[in-house]
Amino acid sequence: MQLFTTIASLRSYLCNDLRDRKSIALVPTMGALHVGHLSLIDRARTENDCVIVSIFVNPLQFGAGEDFDKYPRTLDGDRQICENAEVEAIFVPSASEMGLSKAKATYNMTQVMPPPEMVNVLCGRSRIDHFQGVATIVTKLLNIVQPDRAYFGCKDGQQLAVIRQVVNDLNLPVEIIGCPTIRESSGLAYSSRNQYLSASDRILAAHIYQSLLCARQKILDSDEICATSQVIATARNYLDKFPTINLEYIELVDAKTLQPCAQPEASLMLAIAARIGNTRLIDNISIIF
Ligand code: AMP
Repeated sequence: MQLFTTIASLRSYLCNDLRDRKSIALVPTMGALHVGHLSLIDRARTENDCVIVSIFVNPLQFGAGEDFDKYPRTLDGDRQICENAEVEAIFVPSASEMGLSKAKATYNMTQVMPPPEMVNVLCGRSRIDHFQGVATIVTKLLNIVQPDRAYFGCKDGQQLAVIRQVVNDLNLPVEIIGCPTIRESSGLAYSSRNQYLSASDRILAAHIYQSLLCARQKILDSDEICATSQVIATARNYLDKFPTINLEYIELVDAKTLQPCAQPEASLMLAIAARIGNTRLIDNISIIF
């Protein structure tokens, strides 16, 4: 497996007769790889000839006071995981290689601005500029690698919807593949941020997913179409039993447009964000009628 830290070296590797003969996959990550990331890599492996994993803790997507500095960085372990998964190359650029040179506490660069109605909802309400930062760096990675397919997790449902929109709006020639959320046996979605949780917090965190299942069951059990407010109330009532889970939001939205729906329609996403201590966790499940 090759490791590249510069755009020029990665490009020259990809140009050397690889691109003409082989399909290329990109799996963008922030590292601290776990089973969830591995599922994306494995899927990419089965569908492409060449898999590139990018590892970049993107400063543009962290707000002031968020965990950028303490975000887990485990390059040696990540390297081993990628090697074992038969990844062809990992791309580990520095911030300056990605064009992020900081002047006066701001990054003075062109940024990709997804539609405001998609980025000012759900996580975007508390994470101002987060999705702009994600969209900018993902667009750069797609332009650098120019993959045939790029793989993202449904775990970050808003991110996936925003990226699909950006790729569509900017006519980027890549197929975006959404992959299912991988969970621990308790139901807790694997996340690099789970490392911040104590053993007892981990047990507690599994109830975030359970609350979503409980709300979905409410829909399945109802003879009539049940109102969005009833679905949300079911999840809230479940979580009321756990006062140390601080709910930020729970919303039922259209999975593609992220707009709220008064009545259940086809292809919805029930999305949640909650804090346990200082750790912010997100999850979602799809609800298809
Ligand atoms: P991150 O390193 O957290 O930016 O995640 C990189 C990619 O892995 C994103 O597309 C995430 O949605 C995806 N991902 C993270 N956790 C999971 C999981 N538990 N199951 C499936 N995909 C995941």
